[in-house]
Amino acid sequence: MWRLKPDGPLAGKLVRFDDASGTTIFQGARVIDGTGAAPVAADVIVRGQRVVRLGTATAEELAGATLVDCRGTTIVPGLIDAHVHFNGEIASDPYRRYLWPDDRVRTIRAALCALAFLEAGFTTVRDCGITGAGYALRYAINSEMIVGPRILTAGPGISPTGGQGDWIVLPLDLVRELRPVGLLADGEDGVRLAVREVARQGADLIKVRVSHSQLGVKSEWPPVPVYTVEEIRAAVEEAHGRRLMVAAHAHGVESIRRAVAAGVDTIEHGIVLPGEDPEPVLARMAEQGTILVPTLNVYYHTVHTYRNYGLSDLGVQRGQQLLDGSPALIAAARKHGVRIAAGTDTSSRGGVGDNAREMVLLASMGLTPMEALVAATKVAAEALGAERELGTLEPGKLADLLVLERDPLADLESLLDRANIRIIAKAVEPVSRKWER
Ligand SMILES: [Zn+2]
Repeated sequence: MWRLKPDGPLAGKLVRFDDASGTTIFQGARVIDGTGAAPVAADVIVRGQRVVRLGTATAEELAGATLVDCRGTTIVPGLIDAHVHFNGEIASDPYRRYLWPDDRVRTIRAALCALAFLEAGFTTVRDCGITGAGYALRYAINSEMIVGPRILTAGPGISPTGGQGDWIVLPLDLVRELRPVGLLADGEDGVRLAVREVARQGADLIKVRVSHSQLGVKSEWPPVPVYTVEEIRAAVEEAHGRRLMVAAHAHGVESIRRAVAAGVDTIEHGIVLPGEDPEPVLARMAEQGTILVPTLNVYYHTVHTYRNYGLSDLGVQRGQQLLDGSPALIAAARKHGVRIAAGTDTSSRGGVGDNAREMVLLASMGLTPMEALVAATKVAAEALGAERELGTLEPGKLADLLVLERDPLADLESLLDRANIRIIAKAVEPVSRKWER
């Protein structure tokens, strides 16, 4: 069958592994395996689409293998962005944001964003819930119609009436019909039905919007919790019963507390509002193993680039407030031993292809460069529930990896430079097989 072939920045750079790829040996690199262990000088030996081991290739392994000279380079696992969106939006004007351009145009924009994520070295992304192109892109990429990262998608997120997923500048009847952001679901039974519907559509995870917060809309601010613990717990029960993880959008300590008490797997944003004490919820997150995805990149771009897309001064101010509150959150989370995953909250406005900035921002707020890299590899894979297949270069895992000209531990910002990426290798195994039935 005819397939699109990578062109432009990916030409000659993208390596695709499948089960028939034979043995490939990346020779003589400095390897950062993503577990947090110190770098080692090693060959990376790949058979088919999986890592066999790191070490010195034997004569037997070398015979007949495809050899890739990697002397002077650093190899890292393919990066993972644990929080993106594929709605292809371009406008910040709240009246037009989800209505224009036409959703077919937005799907094409979203496909270009997916390509940009891969060009940036992100071989896997988690679409964290919005009505849009997530299912279609996952299908198109898994079946190799188009080139992009492996996608796990939440489909539309779930929100209560009047909550974050209820686009309140539009009439309620229209929101219920068009679902511009996600599904509206209220009460325990309503939430259960919504999870069942989203699971039926073929989502890889469930997203619940626990707090109210819309940066560019004159709605309630500061954000308040809009789901009860019982409603969130109903979502968690339905999701976990189907082996789906639950990601909770939560701004403010009370929203985080409710989501964690209900047993969600990841807290998205997790921002702490002025005057709040995050210590008790972070202690509980550490105890339960709840992962924090702080999405610093979206606050950075809200402040620095979203004006280009028409974001109001009000939205920019709120973004600045969230950015200002982030260092204290990151420091406290790190102190408590909460796992932190890199997720950018990038959609198709600012920040597309700038995904690695999340690691730079995490490091600027107290993580070591190694911890920042682990946040976008091992921990990000854990946030996806894909740690048995992805995130580290260990025997048996899928051979997603980057060959880099420069050492990211010496210069994390080098990850923002496309020219720094010599090879992007990606296994074809999609991890999610949803929608392939
Ligand atoms: Zn988001």
